Amino acid sequence: MTGSGQPILPPATLGLLGGGQLGLYFVRAAQDQGYRVLVLDPDAMSPAGRAADRHLVAAFDDLDAIETLAREAAAVSTEFENVPAGALETLAKYIPVRPSARALAITQDRIGEKRFLSAEDIPLAPFAVIDDDDALAALPRDFPFPAILKVSRFGYDGKGQHSVAARTDLVQARNAIGAEPCVLEQRLPLDSEFSLIAARTEEGDMVFFPAVENRHRDGILDVSIAPATLAPALVNQARALVERIARTLGYVGVLAVEFFVSAGVLRVNEIAPRPHNSGHFSLDACLLSQFGYQVRSLCGLPLAPVVQHTQAVMVNVLGDLWFRHGGHEAREPDWSPLLRNPSVHLHLYGKRHARRGRKMGHFAVLDPDIEEALALAYRLRAELGIVDGR
Ligand code: ATP
Ligand code: MG
Repeated sequence: MTGSGQPILPPATLGLLGGGQLGLYFVRAAQDQGYRVLVLDPDAMSPAGRAADRHLVAAFDDLDAIETLAREAAAVSTEFENVPAGALETLAKYIPVRPSARALAITQDRIGEKRFLSAEDIPLAPFAVIDDDDALAALPRDFPFPAILKVSRFGYDGKGQHSVAARTDLVQARNAIGAEPCVLEQRLPLDSEFSLIAARTEEGDMVFFPAVENRHRDGILDVSIAPATLAPALVNQARALVERIARTLGYVGVLAVEFFVSAGVLRVNEIAPRPHNSGHFSLDACLLSQFGYQVRSLCGLPLAPVVQHTQAVMVNVLGDLWFRHGGHEAREPDWSPLLRNPSVHLHLYGKRHARRGRKMGHFAVLDPDIEEALALAYRLRAELGIVDGR
């Protein structure tokens, strides 16, 4: 139910802040069910903007655009956490905003997120807030190194992060980042990384996707294995943490929590207040995708338990592949190794310009046997030309 107690039904217009690929799949999931979608994103060529019924090409805090959203949309969601919280607060005066401005404000800022999580006693990597030079000087003598210095705001895909091997390298790393507030985090030896994606209704009902194992390359998600092979006790512990995080935030919508397993111990890495790259397998391997759940929770509709019908491995396709020939000019990769195989589902986001490190698409390999899916995914990844070390 919405704030007014009534679910939002088609052909109502749903608003979306952000026009990337996560938004594209939200638009499609909503339109499939007869909703109209109004996307706000400053990029005229954004994937979701181009697919939407209407695209407001404007800054996220553009007052005219916010007013149009408030007038035309029945409710609004986000696919991108760096929307100014003030814009969401303004919108929330007129229409339901899910997730809320508060949830976004906390999760768009690493310092705020770490403080929120540690106040809740959620296990984290040891960290220190470095918001000025005094904080650097006041760093406890026993802070564990090696560490990573991460900018507090606007970091993604490992951007705005610097390795700090020892305390003596700290000033240099800080200078590389500039005067931006940062978080210093111990670099943990990782057994594995996984994510847990959940959806929550306004009434507090929650459903969970299976835990997904994530493998990164150069700080960017590379391969996701769904479901992860994890001890059930770890998954249960992670679920209880996600449940508590979502409840404390009063969260409505889809959220993803990234976890580290280090020396057998579970720790939260970060929260994404939206569907997640590691949940893309759900487009092909689940009865309802993470975007379908985003639409239903936004519209105040009840959520059925998640059903994953086939095991899946997802591989991200980055813009690097367009430059494999060694030249400067982008060249379309040869998709035939993927498309010839009927158990492979290729998704390209329609981005006009390939750039190194830019997420251009992904493919999912489906197989009743996860080991088979994994072997084929890596074989196809190599055949396509994706190599380790860029
Ligand atoms: P994304 O947008 O992909 O989530 P991000 O820029 O928010 O990335 P993080 O999730 O903080 O960055 O870090 C990216 C990756 O770097 C992690 O998934 C992990 O592989 C590695 N990493 C980050 N922090 C640590 C840590 N404290 N110890 C070990 N590895 C880490
Ligand atoms: Mg991350």
